[in-house]
Formats: sequence, C-alpha cells, structure tokens
Amino acid sequence: MGNIFLIIFVLEKHEIHLAFMREALKQAKLAKSINEVPVGAIIVKNSKIIGSGHNQNISSHSVSAHAEINAINKAGLFLKNYRLVECDMYVTVEPCHMCAKAIVDARLRNLYFATPEPKSGAIISVDSFFEKNFLNHVVNYEYGFLQEECSNIIKNFFISKRG
Ligand SMILES: [Zn+2]
Repeated sequence: MGNIFLIIFVLEKHEIHLAFMREALKQAKLAKSINEVPVGAIIVKNSKIIGSGHNQNISSHSVSAHAEINAINKAGLFLKNYRLVECDMYVTVEPCHMCAKAIVDARLRNLYFATPEPKSGAIISVDSFFEKNFLNHVVNYEYGFLQEECSNIIKNFFISKRG
C-alpha cells in the first residue's frame, strides 16, 4: 500500500510541476508577443504564484531584465523582502550566471527549469554554479518539465528571426 501512495504522490507532484511550468510558458509567450527572446519565469510560495516575469531586455533597455530577475523583483515587492524564503522558481530555460547568482542570493528553495541552454546555462550546461563551495545557500534543482514546448518556442523564435 505504501508504494501505491508514494507513486500517486510522485505523479501528483509531477502534475503540479507541469501546471506551474505552463504558467512560466505563458510568460515566455508574452515575451515573444513583444519580440523579446521567449523566456518566462514564475515564483511560487505555498502553491501560489507571487511573482512572474518575462524577458524585457530590449523594451526596458536593460541587460539585467531577464525573466528570472523580473520575477524575483516582483516576488520581493510582494513579500516586501528581498529574501524569497520557501519559494520555488519555474523558468522555461536554464538560467545564466547572472540569474543563477540572483537565485542563490534570493535564497530560493527549488529551481525547476524546462530545457537546458547549451550556450549559457550556468546550472548544468556551461557550469555547475549551484555546486560552488563559496556559496552559502543551496538551491535544489530539477529540469525537463515541458522541455519540448519550452525549447521549441525559443528555436522557432530564432528561426523566424533568421528567415
Ligand atoms: Zn539570466
């Protein structure tokens, strides 16, 4: 019996991750609609979305306006605290170094990303940033949720740019 409950629990957990990643994907679509690289992120606390963001580098004239940073800033305003304790992030693409550092500094608990980014991903692709021993906070991570959809939206965006 115990095993059956464990399987149900794991399946439900997976469904929850997919549901939240779908919300992050909606943010990526928002970015696409304003001609920004389609990456989206949300921050969840106690099963509620408390911050969301999409890439806005061009529209906000800012090198730091990545989806993750925008979501972190909104969640901070919501909590009135720059430390996002017991919060999780869902993001459609593996974060870069800048965002990975912000995720650590914000004290996020879990990072879930959909698809690896082979050219700049700092978590598993070009670096294993979360494993650096100078960091004073450990962020757990998992990836692969809605991987195909989140990867396709980026690929198609760049194909359409070239075409
Ligand atoms: Zn970034």
